[in-house]
Formats: sequence, structure tokens, C-alpha cells
Amino acid sequence: MVRSELVEPVTAVGFPKPTPLAVNLPFNRDCLGEAFVPAKGHETPPVQAGHWLLVQGQSLIVPAEDELRLPTGGRPTVFDGHFGEPLWLGTLGGTPCWVASLPADLTVPAGFQAETLIPMQGTRLPDPLLSLGGMALQALYWASTSGHCPRCGASTERIPGEWGKRCPACQYEHYPHLHPAVIVLVRDETRVILTRKAGWAPGRYSLVAGFVDNGECLEGAVHREVREEVGVEVTDVQYVGSQNWPFPSQLMIGFVARYAGGELVVDRDELEDARWFAVDHLPSGPGRHSIARYIIDHHARV
Ligand SMILES: [Zn+2]
Repeated sequence: MVRSELVEPVTAVGFPKPTPLAVNLPFNRDCLGEAFVPAKGHETPPVQAGHWLLVQGQSLIVPAEDELRLPTGGRPTVFDGHFGEPLWLGTLGGTPCWVASLPADLTVPAGFQAETLIPMQGTRLPDPLLSLGGMALQALYWASTSGHCPRCGASTERIPGEWGKRCPACQYEHYPHLHPAVIVLVRDETRVILTRKAGWAPGRYSLVAGFVDNGECLEGAVHREVREEVGVEVTDVQYVGSQNWPFPSQLMIGFVARYAGGELVVDRDELEDARWFAVDHLPSGPGRHSIARYIIDHHARV
């Protein structure tokens, strides 16, 4: 594919500053600052050219170069026949971004390489590309799960200028689903509770976390998840930031809470282990891409 000379490549270098937030983490769209304008309320660009988010499984297919970037230019003909109508995700610095899903069994052609989007698998993609790739994953997930009306089963249609879908038979409308989950660091003076699940890398611990239940508020979910997973009570629940997590569609809502009593009892159905750790002797934790790491780094010490 010819790389357009008119369009700046999307790499980590020279990228616009992110929107100033307390938490600038990859997968949050604000990582892209004002450079990214989502595909809402605008006409789809007439020509399929720009940046290409070629998704295979949970990887991006990018040029086989040392500095990772998105393929840019016209429709990448080397993949002809392997994807249908691409999704328009939005524009980045005025350049349209297109999303296409490639078959899992497609051999990556010469000149390209697959880079995982999953932090736990050691992604090398810079934060702006992870954030775009995360949106691409969610757009494809939504496209694959919204083809039929959940009420009557008829085929849905895209609502013009929106990500939402409408059922032409019963007029039901629905929009991309985002699933809220709380993630919380329990603190007590100079110690914190960390947990680990079976299958994680040896020695790796993270935070208590879980999905918000129907009818539950966020603070209620924090109290319940802490009680269920590690058996203790907390107080002074404070919000510290959030992260969009596109595997496949979570919103991680981060808190710290103060230990208020009870013996630590591990929920063995959910966890392999949980224990108190001195803040000066923390185990290996989650990687820098996750809000869990952010909370530990910024809030373990009271
Ligand atoms: Zn319907």
C-alpha cells in the first residue's frame, strides 16, 4: 500500500496532547485529545481512505516497521476479499479512520505484522494506537451483537449519524452497551489488600473488582464486592478515576476505601489468593496500561 504523503502517520511521536484529566490511560478516548472526532452527527466520508484499523481477533494488523503505526492511504488492496464494508470510526486530525475485521485464519501478508491490543500479552502499541484500537474492537463487537432487534428479532438498521441501531419492525432503538465495573484499593494505614486470580502470571496481584449489579449504585457495588471477595468492611469510599476497557466493553470505575473492620477471608470461587501487603513491600502488580496500576501507584500510600 502506498503511504499517503499528505497525511501524518499515527504514531506516539508528535501526537497531540491528551485532554488534561486526572487519569490519562490508554483506551480512554481522551488520550487522543481533541484530535479525534467520533463518527456521530456527521456524514460518512464519501471515499474510503485514511487511517486503517485492521483488526484480527484482538490484534491490529500494522506495517512491519520498527515504529508501529497505522496503515494510511486508500483501501488496502492486499486484503481485498477478506473484509466487507468498513466501519467509519471517526476522524483523527481530520483524517477518516476506518475499521475492518479480518478473518482469524487469514495469514498476515508480507509487509504487515500483527500486534496484540491486550496489555497482559505485552502489547507494544503506543497509547494513542491502543485507544484507537480499543474503540475499533468495541465498534466491531457492537456491530457483531446488534444485527437483530433484541425485542422482535428483525434486522436492525443504523441510526444515521449515530452508533445506535433501530428496528424497522417495532421501532426499538438501542445503543452500544458499556458495562460498569468497580475496582477498589482497600487501605489501612501502611497496608493494602491485593488479590490474585488463578491463571495470572506468578506473583501478580491486583485489586478487588467486579461488575455493578442491577439496581446498585457504585458505592454499593464497592461495599458488596469487597465484602464478597475478601470479607472485610470498608468506609470512606472515594472515586479516583476511570478507564474504558474494551475487552469487550467494560467501564472500570476506580475507588479507594478505608478498612473498617473484619477478618480477611478469601472467596475461593473468585480468587486464588488475597492478602494484606505492606505498602513498602508490594508484589508485582498489573502493567502500566491499567487503572489498577494507576491506583496502586498513586493511592497506596495514604
Ligand atoms: Zn424489533
